[in-house]
Amino acid sequence: MQINVAQLLQESIGSTRKYQVDEVVTGDEGNDHRLYGECQLLRTQSSILVKCQLNTDTELICSRCLATFRQPLAFKFEEEYLPTVDVNTGAPLDMSDEAGAFTIDEHHILDLKEAVRQYAQLVIPMKPLCRKECSGLCQKCGKNLNEGPCACPTEEMDPRWAKLTQLM
Ligand SMILES: [Zn+2]
Ligand SMILES: [Zn+2]
Repeated sequence: MQINVAQLLQESIGSTRKYQVDEVVTGDEGNDHRLYGECQLLRTQSSILVKCQLNTDTELICSRCLATFRQPLAFKFEEEYLPTVDVNTGAPLDMSDEAGAFTIDEHHILDLKEAVRQYAQLVIPMKPLCRKECSGLCQKCGKNLNEGPCACPTEEMDPRWAKLTQLM
């Protein structure tokens, strides 16, 4: 996800480049996932504007049964990357007003990694489910009910109903 933009920075405003992304990325927890899609780079007056449309298959933990599973996620983003040195002279540029901005390093390398990490996180569901009809875990014995029923009594009768049945 590192792109050398030295050439593009020397081109006229409005010049574009397209990049196909297809690589295996190691996530924060050390798990690998594939990242693929397309990024477009646009030379603006003072920056490179990056538009990406990407897909990934992230390993998630089911919120009901706690199993890990992979789910394809699609996301897109648009971010501006500012050069830190003048591409023609190599002189450092004043970045004091640009705190927190994405930057292009002194070797003209634009690194998409941090933006991808941030935007990929936004599409991860709050309560992932391994499957729509996931049965979850038994609240009493903790068995994964997707693997079959557990030995716990199925339903405890409401004590009020129990009294009624006794009367009948
Ligand atoms: Zn599940
Ligand atoms: Zn049980």
